[in-house]
Amino acid sequence: MSIKSNIEYIQELKTAAAEKSGRSGSDVLLVAVTKLHGADEINEAIDAGITDIGENKVQEIMDKYEKVKPVRWHLIGHLQTNKVKYIIDKVSMIHSVDSLKLAREIDKRAAQHNLTMDILVQVNSAEEESKFGITTEETDQLILDIANQCPNIRIRGLMCIAPYEEDPNDARAYFSEVKQIYDKYAGSQEGRIDFQYLSMGMTNDFEVAIEEGSNLIRVGTAIFGYRDYRSEEK
Ligand SMILES: *Cc1c(COP(=O)(O)O)cnc(C)c1O
Repeated sequence: MSIKSNIEYIQELKTAAAEKSGRSGSDVLLVAVTKLHGADEINEAIDAGITDIGENKVQEIMDKYEKVKPVRWHLIGHLQTNKVKYIIDKVSMIHSVDSLKLAREIDKRAAQHNLTMDILVQVNSAEEESKFGITTEETDQLILDIANQCPNIRIRGLMCIAPYEEDPNDARAYFSEVKQIYDKYAGSQEGRIDFQYLSMGMTNDFEVAIEEGSNLIRVGTAIFGYRDYRSEEK
């Protein structure tokens, strides 16, 4: 299967899942997750219609940035404060904000570049220890703190990584919990709180995530095939 036909197939499944929840396929943004894949493959995906790509490491964005055709970059993985400066003028949204400390650093660097950075607050609704993100209980407070203290940040929504489940239906509760928080803010545009994105769903569970209200899915394996982690040098 080519990258192009994989993308077409995912678009079909995406549309079917969106229609199941009373929306259309175009209401759900497909972000192609390109970690551990090279510029050639990424450009192939862009040629096939991909407008947004996701990377989980700062270093990979740095390495590929010049080699990839114009596209919107999303940082979807854990971000260390000391690395914000490298990507602040390269990415269009940071999905993984889970502390005020990180938000303040993003705010500071954004101000230096005279820009407003779009961010999502990462919620770990399953409270898995291995994952980053805050608990659902902490979410309102962090949103409020960022809105009050970070003038160069626009809070665009929430992001969630559900635990891997053999049967993705078992992840529904985690998605719906985050959707409930999202709905409290969606539509009410209050200064720097301007919700538009609910980033949930990966290769294994994106259809279920869409059915539960996701409007942004992050899909890697189903587009590019399995990643070869052995080739990872760092
Ligand atoms: C790798 C990754 C994805 C994509 O995972 P696949 O299972 O390959 O689709 C999505 N979100 C995040 C945060 C990731 O790190």
